[in-house]
Amino acid sequence: MKLNLAISFLFIASIAAAQTKFKPEDTEFYTPKPHVVHVPGGVPDDALVLFDGRDLVEWQSVKDTNQAAPWLVEEGVLTVKGGAGDIQTKKKFGDFQLHIEWKSPELIKGEGQGRGNSGVFLQGLYEVQVLDNTDNPTYVNGQAGSIYKQRPPLVEVRSEEDGWHRYDLIYHAPQFNRDGMLVRKATLTLLHNGVLVQDQAVIEGTTEYIGLPKMMAHGVGPLILQDHGNPVHFRNIWIRPL
Ligand code: MG
Repeated sequence: MKLNLAISFLFIASIAAAQTKFKPEDTEFYTPKPHVVHVPGGVPDDALVLFDGRDLVEWQSVKDTNQAAPWLVEEGVLTVKGGAGDIQTKKKFGDFQLHIEWKSPELIKGEGQGRGNSGVFLQGLYEVQVLDNTDNPTYVNGQAGSIYKQRPPLVEVRSEEDGWHRYDLIYHAPQFNRDGMLVRKATLTLLHNGVLVQDQAVIEGTTEYIGLPKMMAHGVGPLILQDHGNPVHFRNIWIRPL
């Protein structure tokens, strides 16, 4: 015990001695310089804009990737066309920061998972749930802000006064080695209207309606927006690959 104390004292004393040899500038560096980002209208100028209210040129039908995305664009808002199927980005992504805004349908119809259901599938495989949570009980790992059927949100966040919701998320894709074996699971951090609801949450695998998540090796993938039959609205979608 005495020996341990003596060693600890010597260690601390040696660090203190070393510190006195440093000047402030010894631990300051000037390159590489972070590049400058402007944020006009709230959109970083190094982001890829996926929907700015005008058209769906960045999107396509999931059922038939040769077809344009078959959803509705009116007055700057994108609306799910029930039965037309999911839509996906033409581009594919690995790790990214994503901003997306959504709003439940004006007509309150259905209950549980049948009310205002849509979703954002990261790399086309992992769903971040979009749902009308207001007075609409359902399983907590299926409510808005959940990683569907895996992790409920840390808190239940209500919409802005105008009914819109903002999701800001940071996603790190799973990593696989050359043999296709999983090295690191995917993680998600999600802010819902600026409130933390997923904190580096581990994504266990694919989103499955029935049964356990599956894990298979994959590369970059598209963002998919879900057609669950409800006319959910979206606007202001941009992404920054990391
Ligand atoms: Mg959904």
